[in-house]
Amino acid sequence: MRVFRRKAVWTMVFRRWESFSWRLIGFAAAVIAAGAGALAVENPVGEVPQPKNVILMVADGCGIEAYTLTRWMKGKELAVDSLEVALVKTHSTDSVITDSAPAASAYATGVRTSNGFLSVGPQAKVLSVLTPPPEDLQYRPLATVLEGAKLLGKATGIAVTCRVTHATPAAFMAHLPRRDDEQDLMIQVVHQNVDVVLGGGRELLLPTSAGGKRTDGRDLTKVLKARGYQTPQTRQELAKISGGKVFGLFAPGHLAPEIDRPQLGPDEPTLEEMTRKAIELLKADPDGFFLMIEGSQIDWACHANDPAYLVHEMLMFDRAVGAAAEFARQDGQTLLIVVSDHATGGLSIGNTGPLSKGNLTVETVVEPLRRMKCSATLLWKTLGKDPTPERIQTVLQEEWGIKTTPEEAGEVLAEVKRASKNPQNVFTFLSTRYTALGWTTHNHTGGDVALFTLGPGRPKGVLASPQVGQCIAQALGIDLDKLNQRLFVEPGKALPDVKVELLPEGAKTPQIVRLQAGQKRVELPLQENVLNNGDRSVELEGLCLYASQTKRVYVPLQVLRLLTDSQEPLPKITKE
Ligand SMILES: [Zn+2]
Repeated sequence: MRVFRRKAVWTMVFRRWESFSWRLIGFAAAVIAAGAGALAVENPVGEVPQPKNVILMVADGCGIEAYTLTRWMKGKELAVDSLEVALVKTHSTDSVITDSAPAASAYATGVRTSNGFLSVGPQAKVLSVLTPPPEDLQYRPLATVLEGAKLLGKATGIAVTCRVTHATPAAFMAHLPRRDDEQDLMIQVVHQNVDVVLGGGRELLLPTSAGGKRTDGRDLTKVLKARGYQTPQTRQELAKISGGKVFGLFAPGHLAPEIDRPQLGPDEPTLEEMTRKAIELLKADPDGFFLMIEGSQIDWACHANDPAYLVHEMLMFDRAVGAAAEFARQDGQTLLIVVSDHATGGLSIGNTGPLSKGNLTVETVVEPLRRMKCSATLLWKTLGKDPTPERIQTVLQEEWGIKTTPEEAGEVLAEVKRASKNPQNVFTFLSTRYTALGWTTHNHTGGDVALFTLGPGRPKGVLASPQVGQCIAQALGIDLDKLNQRLFVEPGKALPDVKVELLPEGAKTPQIVRLQAGQKRVELPLQENVLNNGDRSVELEGLCLYASQTKRVYVPLQVLRLLTDSQEPLPKITKE
């Protein structure tokens, strides 16, 4: 009983914080708080069955202007054009301009957090318009809709074109306030038991001694093997798979940009192929599924102000959306949400250059982009070391269809000499001069983004980013409050008699938490879902985590049940 009393207090503190965007005030209350109709569920409860599946598609870094540009490029309607539309406010708790980590965390957990944080509660420092989070919430792991879907017996999947440990996918599968710690994130990802994981990042599975990038000596492919995963490495191998669990990483790092794929990654699947395969595999589950798909590199194209890279990423994302929408329409029980996490680059159709003067023709917009055959990154590589101005002129003519003057080649050369970190950015001034597109920054921007929906349970209006996560939870039938209480319990608070030790003793980054209650002692490797009890090992329903900032340990409630030999069933995570 003590367990539950403690949790009730925590929940109350939780609820008071940032009420206008806070998920734990409950869905119905959120509708009222957000204004009548602002977050209404399309179909009255009872008349239409709850959606069985949710597909979330994230166009990372995609502003509305990028959709418009892609429509002109495609020459016809985009797949999102036939969907309903809403807007999302994107800021994080500590910045008007969010990064991908808290943006994805809001969609994954229904909670807004700090820049750089992946599905853990925010730090104390927040924007002046927000109330600082309660102490209990800071750095606390926040349960994700993917974790909730798993507990409901639904199949789960992730398909992205970046490393699967990059911010957006990691926010659904892992919990860490440091998005760059991808080695740690991969430990959590392989221990999440997600049914279908497709993307890049193979080098994070293997130690350096085996050709990978892991510096902790661990070989995570062994975990995948022990858990029965198929591990295709090419699009051909993926195509052959017709069932079972899949952990398909098709490149050591990120997948190739779509525009460069024929040259750099011909054996990698496209986002559309991954989307179709993921749906095919997941829909076999009679309980339904949750699938998150990301067009990861739309963001990077915009960071580089690289228009050709951008439109090719967007056209492929459009095909993936088309595939998902086709399934959702046929299925009728699937909520499809297509959304960005923020915009990047400050893209505009129209700029201060010569091409934008007077009436702008379609051809003026699309022809320069059609002539570009590779990304700026590949262009940079093609230039080779120490390029001459003549070499620059030749390569730009061949690869981007731009006839530059000797002066412009000199400008590129000067940029080349200055650029060390982001060589792809040296062409930005040419992209502005030779296209009708404008860019204001190499970073993210702070505006609202579009959210497109199809199917039952779709949200409307101008949403706070956490409301997107709340809506997904609602659609899946998950009570996020109950889910948090079941997945992340502080053992010392829930059971005051339990002895909590971190091992190795005194280590800066502990590896194991040891719990002792009476004569019973168990060991829990951190960031994994494993309980070791002598020679017995149990796979848990969630991860065991340690927040180094607050020195708190979080384990699934299931651990305490096992520790105390309690037969009490685990509480339901569905709304009553
Ligand atoms: Zn992003």
